[in-house]
Amino acid sequence: MALKALDIYKLLPKKNCKECGDPTCLTFAMKLAGGKADVGSCPYLDENAKSVLGATTRPPVQRVKIGVGERAFAVGEEFVLYRHDKTFYHPPGILFKVSDTQTPEEIAAATIRIRDESFTRIGTDLKFNGIAIENSSGSAEVFARAVSTVEEHADLPLVLISENGEALNNALVQVGSYRPLIHAATDRNFRDMCSLARKYGCPLVIKAQRLEELISLSKTCEAEGVKKLVLDPCPRTLGDFIALSTAVRQLAITRSVQGLGYPVYIDATHHSLQDAAIALGIVKYASVIVTSSLSAASAKASLTLRQNIYTDPQKPIQMNPGLYRVGNPGKDAPVLLTVNFSLTYFTLEGYLESTRIPCFMLIVDTEGLSVLTAVAAGKLNEMLVRDSIKKFDVEREVSHKTLIIPGYAAPLSGRIEEATGWNILVGPRDAAEIGEFLHEVWKKHQS
Ligand code: SF4
Repeated sequence: MALKALDIYKLLPKKNCKECGDPTCLTFAMKLAGGKADVGSCPYLDENAKSVLGATTRPPVQRVKIGVGERAFAVGEEFVLYRHDKTFYHPPGILFKVSDTQTPEEIAAATIRIRDESFTRIGTDLKFNGIAIENSSGSAEVFARAVSTVEEHADLPLVLISENGEALNNALVQVGSYRPLIHAATDRNFRDMCSLARKYGCPLVIKAQRLEELISLSKTCEAEGVKKLVLDPCPRTLGDFIALSTAVRQLAITRSVQGLGYPVYIDATHHSLQDAAIALGIVKYASVIVTSSLSAASAKASLTLRQNIYTDPQKPIQMNPGLYRVGNPGKDAPVLLTVNFSLTYFTLEGYLESTRIPCFMLIVDTEGLSVLTAVAAGKLNEMLVRDSIKKFDVEREVSHKTLIIPGYAAPLSGRIEEATGWNILVGPRDAAEIGEFLHEVWKKHQS
């Protein structure tokens, strides 16, 4: 049971010395209650207070960082079972798997793809996270060569997959300082694996097919001094994965069982429906997803799903306000005003592209509200439009002063005209009718 901030405050030394980095003991207590601080940051806590607070204030799912540098990513530190209760914080890392039996050219090509491929959606660059290298050959030398090939081409987070301690050790001599995720400790090899994880400061996957075995193994590895763990429940089917991963998350956030408060791992290549495995991993609590190289369509679908699930459901996805170009618009191109609710933007943009009439979209900041809601709430108003025209220098981009506003903003047309000095054309309510509107009303207006 998590303690409230006030209960935590009672256990603190109350020196208000700021050594923890917080201005007062109370703010530190509030952070601890939210799982956002570490008890170790206060040097004045006695052992008893430390153990009481440590057990109740750490995030129910431990944070685990994989890799170093710009592309490193952290997973875990999640607090809820249902996204709508709060939000999910740390999107799963999705890594392409290569085998050490592949040619160096194939391994290099996969690495370069992960290094360079990026797809921009709603103003965010979406990328895959790293490379998982599997020791399918069984040879420590061949594995080390594959790891070198990856390392030569990119500094990416890695997963090293082998149960062979010698192979892992050879690989870690080369890339241990990049803090790769080691896969995996089992009940047979955990001593060697823990020793490697400790030596190189790397996070470690533990794998077992039953929850009881995972719990026991995680406690054993903790006792061996490895605290950054990831759980691989080795699901045989996707149904198994849903059941096991949900149980792990549920037991972790209720803190009812010790040993399960760690991120979950899934290898989608072990399932014939790989795309489905990735999708289930994203929606059902996987934090590390390993997959074979994906087609362009599957890659976009995975990155889009991950972006959607890991946005705050209480905040609409927003576009950055600005003046956006559709096609290559000239000085006489139409300017269409709309709001920064992403769904509105993408729907309208799609229809505009299909009209093949190059144009400008003036996106104004309505805090992610749709047109109808923004008009009703007063977020879309003549001042905002006037300021946005100035801010985004629209008058420099076009040689006319005609603005097309959405049909649902028609009640504002007179006020916008007065405030901006622009001529207002009221567009259709339904974005699907924008093509017809531009071909007929806009063209007539121009002539
Ligand atoms: Fe309070 Fe400890 Fe922080 Fe000092 S270091 S302000 S005593 S919580």
